[in-house]
Amino acid sequence: EKRNPGEVEFHQAVREVTESLMPFVLENPKYKDAQILERLTEPDRIIIFRVTWEDDAGNIRANRAWRVQFNNSIGPYKGGLRFHPSVTQSVLKFLGFEQIFKNSLTGLPMGGAKGGSNFNPKGKSDREVMRFCQSLMIELHRHIGEDTDIPAGDIGVGGREISYLFGQYKRLANKFVGTLTGKGLSFGGSLVRTEATGYGCVYFCENMFQRIGDSIDGKTVAISGSGNVAIYAAEKATELGGRVVTLSDSGGFIHDPDGIDAEKLAFVKDLKEVRRGRISDYVDKYPKATFHSDARPWSVPAQVALPCATQNELDLSEAKTLLKNGVMAVAEGANMPTELDAAYAFREAGILFGPAKAANAGGVAVSGLEQSQNALRLSWSREEVDTKLKTIMKEIHEKCVKYGSDGKQVDYIDGANLAGFVKIAEAMLAYGAV
Ligand code: NDP
Repeated sequence: EKRNPGEVEFHQAVREVTESLMPFVLENPKYKDAQILERLTEPDRIIIFRVTWEDDAGNIRANRAWRVQFNNSIGPYKGGLRFHPSVTQSVLKFLGFEQIFKNSLTGLPMGGAKGGSNFNPKGKSDREVMRFCQSLMIELHRHIGEDTDIPAGDIGVGGREISYLFGQYKRLANKFVGTLTGKGLSFGGSLVRTEATGYGCVYFCENMFQRIGDSIDGKTVAISGSGNVAIYAAEKATELGGRVVTLSDSGGFIHDPDGIDAEKLAFVKDLKEVRRGRISDYVDKYPKATFHSDARPWSVPAQVALPCATQNELDLSEAKTLLKNGVMAVAEGANMPTELDAAYAFREAGILFGPAKAANAGGVAVSGLEQSQNALRLSWSREEVDTKLKTIMKEIHEKCVKYGSDGKQVDYIDGANLAGFVKIAEAMLAYGAV
């Protein structure tokens, strides 16, 4: 904390990982002797730069942007870009740090990074977003490349933004290579990338249920968020027989006791992805549902909870409420949505708890598959990518069980941290003092 004053989100992420890893590192002095944890918690480099752009009224605007290149021991840097006014260096360091372990868990050769800007895309015109993305890429393009660092989307960065960023990258680099993922299907994107994080989260949750002889089928599911991850988590949970009863955004949550079925979800997709509206509009269309402003959905009784909006959106008192209402499984679609004491409360209660670095790794896994397709100059079918995604999520689950099981119960937090760590640590040991 002395070294990184005020970086609360980064401290939180490091604390969770080190609390898991410490006993293992102490038992294996080779990791301690080589200062692996100390080296892993210091990014390889952070690039900070100003992004100047012009709004529609002709005013010059300035934002700050970062790329945190955290660790490339097992592959080129890889991680999303976030555009949100709450973005700080601490937030990006926490995300980049988590990304190292997550990418390792996928089994694909990807290092960890994260980037973004405090730019707020909300309320901006398409042209303003385009000018911002183009200006950001003028600086970022020097630092990225298909074998160096491959950014993707995150909060506030979806298909529209990736297209603007890639168009500008291609122009500056004078190369058509897969330096960004999440691209449109006509210019190198992969089928199932859009759905991958949400689908993967539900596949992981289903794997946890299957291990105890149960399934999502017939369960009530509470989901937060209504962005990319939340929408496709809702779609897959419904397909597997779950009844999704909530969605949210930063204005509040909607509760639809009848379930948000495929038809209602199509309305939400159009509302959020095309019209860029608010989730509160849902109740105008479906009046049997209720809207709860400035609130989160965790008071709604559910057997499955999928936090899919943002960090620290589920605290200890909400965890207690979920437990009191009989929650059986929590799988994190978002990054670090559960506060540390809330996550430990789930662990103590012995319910299934899938931490983000395992449960939401499906997005980056399919990004990795997009890179493979770009390198091969091929496009795989939807079924092929979805099958690979399912297999990767199953293997991540198996790794968590291998490293987190005491023979009876599985501690998925420890399992994910240990499994992710060992691969990177072995590479770092092999490299010597670098
Ligand atoms: P989107 O921008 O598509 O959606 C974000 C959703 O979360 C929106 O509903 C948004 O509401 C809500 N939200 C964002 N910030 C806040 C906040 N401070 N308070 C309350 N609600 C908020 O992002 P994604 O769905 O892509 O990302 C969601 C989470 O999943 C993030 O934690 C991200 O890091 C993680 N993730 C995403 C991956 C991906 O492939 N996209 C991969 C792995 C993890 P509003 O519209 O009102 O802002």
